[in-house]
Amino acid sequence: MPSETIKLTAKFKLKTIPDGLDKLFSTYRGIVNFLITYAFENNVTSFYRLKKETYKGLRKEYPELPSHYLYTACQMATAIFKGYRKRKRKGKAKGKPVFKKEVIMLDDHLFKLDSENKTIKLSTPNGRISLEFCPAKYHEKFKDWKVGQAWLVRTPKGVFVNVVFSKEVKVREPSAFVGVDLNENNVTLSLPNGEFVQIITHEREIRTGYYVKRRRIQRKLRTGRKRKELLEKYGERERNRLNDLYHKLANKIVKLAEKYGGIALEDLTEIRDSIKYSAEMNGRLHRWSFRKLQSIIEYKAKLRGVRVVFVNPAHTSSLCPVCGGKLSPNGHRILKCLNCRFEADRDVVGSWNIRLRALRMWGVPVPPEGQPMKMGGWKVSRNDVYGLYTSYG
Ligand SMILES: [Zn+2]
Repeated sequence: MPSETIKLTAKFKLKTIPDGLDKLFSTYRGIVNFLITYAFENNVTSFYRLKKETYKGLRKEYPELPSHYLYTACQMATAIFKGYRKRKRKGKAKGKPVFKKEVIMLDDHLFKLDSENKTIKLSTPNGRISLEFCPAKYHEKFKDWKVGQAWLVRTPKGVFVNVVFSKEVKVREPSAFVGVDLNENNVTLSLPNGEFVQIITHEREIRTGYYVKRRRIQRKLRTGRKRKELLEKYGERERNRLNDLYHKLANKIVKLAEKYGGIALEDLTEIRDSIKYSAEMNGRLHRWSFRKLQSIIEYKAKLRGVRVVFVNPAHTSSLCPVCGGKLSPNGHRILKCLNCRFEADRDVVGSWNIRLRALRMWGVPVPPEGQPMKMGGWKVSRNDVYGLYTSYG
């Protein structure tokens, strides 16, 4: 069975903030910025070259600092400079890149997680120090996972160590795929047995509700700290609410797909300019949330040994899944094929095409009986969409 690696990040909030942390953050930031400038001026994109050419000088300047801080600073500087070059090529970056955040990258020499004693040991210029963290219930699920790198981060909420955990999982050969079409207010699934499941998410109402709340605050309080605090509070509530929704949705989808062993999603990384996700769905926010939901589906699926494939999203909701002809609108959200007279709800068409593309991608011939069975002729109406879920528990 092929195996895959799952990576997830868990946050560990520190109970107290140790002395000298301010200095560590500012020293590290200074080093990263020095390295970015060096990379920028000498056009260095290789981590090894950057390290080789700067290490001796930095070592001399910061003799107390554990050497691995210099390694991770090089890694961060390389990544930041590469990201900057990429943005610049697209005309989206000006001037020189600057690192302003209070973030320190830690490798396995710089920190050690001690789950038993709820502490993290950190190497600092003053030697190893032991930091107590606030235990969270979800930390327990990483018990048998491998600890990778980590990030020491300061936010207005406190200081955190964000640890990347990884796990090898066996993913079996899928016998079929469940096609998943993510939409603003519903998720539609095309099952290999010809059925469709639509889950109404109410995501649009949730978003609209918070949008209205934020507007009200913005109108009432023009400036000041209170305004900022309230906006942040509701922003966080919205994120938590959506996150919770995504986890429940992902659980449901993975459960439905488990017996087939495969899930097909749209590859959303390459469709920045697609009409479907920009004009109709008002842009970046939704793409962000689709990606977020997809990543949750992906890791939950892998944990259960279910394969996830990403298919080309072009025209998934405008081509006929039966004959490949072009579909025309035929009333509210209904699409009709002028070639073979097939007619269906656009979400049904989307999820169906996604499933068929996964089969072709996987090299499985698409049989004619792969077409939905439970339909009135070629027509799939709202009533034929099975199991209209409004809860996802
Ligand atoms: Zn057709």
